This record gives sequence, structure tokens and C-alpha cells, in this order.
Amino acid sequence: MKETGVIKFNCNWIKAQPISPDLLIALNVWRTRMHKLGFIGVNNEEIGYGNMSIRLSGNQFIITGSATGKIKVLSNKHYTKVVNYDLDKNSLTAEGPILASSESLTHAVIYECDKKVNAIIHIHNTKLWNQLMNKVPTTNKDVEYGTPAMAMEMKRLFNETDLSKQKILVMAGHQDGIISFGKDLNEAGNQLLKLV
Ligand SMILES: [Zn+2]
Repeated sequence: MKETGVIKFNCNWIKAQPISPDLLIALNVWRTRMHKLGFIGVNNEEIGYGNMSIRLSGNQFIITGSATGKIKVLSNKHYTKVVNYDLDKNSLTAEGPILASSESLTHAVIYECDKKVNAIIHIHNTKLWNQLMNKVPTTNKDVEYGTPAMAMEMKRLFNETDLSKQKILVMAGHQDGIISFGKDLNEAGNQLLKLV
């Protein structure tokens, strides 16, 4: 699965103002930390991986923009707001200065499934991926990243496993892909740090 970073949903992009400075500082604390660890970054083919988001109100959220993996410290131009989505139509509407991450639909469904979740971090790490595979809730290996099928896998895991308690999952069909979440970015991020 080498095509990480390619957007597979129909993105309605409404160009809008960047996020506020306060929000940027809060997001970048964890974004920069994740980037330093190599959890978010670029692969050998210069394709970006990893992303993170925080919930605003309802099911709207701020997420890192598409193709920002290579950037060490993001600016307010690198985040965008997802205002709604339609899983059946595989479409999503983003408002901001940049296109939303290719994995935005997966984030959207996690927020929908668990109202206590306010922050999500998606990282790539080979060692942790192998270590956690089938030890924590794990998606079907035939399901690719960024697809409605992956979003449906989130629903399945919330229904069939104790994902809302464990707050971490492995994407078996998405090489190195892991998602953690929590009531805030500290909880989502510390889940990952304690594994290192
Ligand atoms: Zn990924």
C-alpha cells in the first residue's frame, strides 16, 4: 500500500481563513512532537503520512491539510476545517486554506461514533504496527486507507470491540498505520508516547 497521501474522496473545498493563533499553538504542540518522532513525516518516495485533528463543535473538526507530512512545523495555512461529510457519496466538505487530509473520512466517523473523542492522531510506525497488530482493535487487512470501507471499519470496531476504552487501533491494510484518540490531544498523544 504505497499510495499513502492520495485523496480518494470527493472533496468540496471552500477556501476560507486560516485557524486562530491560539488553536495553532495548541495543535502544533503535538504535531511537532509527532513529526520529531517520525510518527508523521514523509516516506522514501517523498509522500507524506500521518495526520491529526481536533473536534470543534458537533461533528466538525480541524485537521492537518493534505501533503503536509514533509513540513516540520506547520503554520495556520496547513490546517483546515471539515464541516460535513457523506459516507455514502464518499464526499467531504472542507473550509480553509488547504485541502483536508486524505484520511479525513476516517477521522469523521470516529468523532461520530464516540462523542467523548475530541482529538485523533494517525501515525505510521513499523515497529508499533507489528507489535500492536491484533493485540488492540485491528481493521480488516483487505481494507485500504482513505476509503468509505475504512470508515465503516471504524464503526465495526466501535461496535464489536472495546475500542472506546482502548483508544488505539491498528489499520492492518494500511502499512504502519495506527490511530489513537482521546478526550483531548494530550490523551491521544500520550497513548502513543507510552508505547515508545
Ligand atoms: Zn496513513
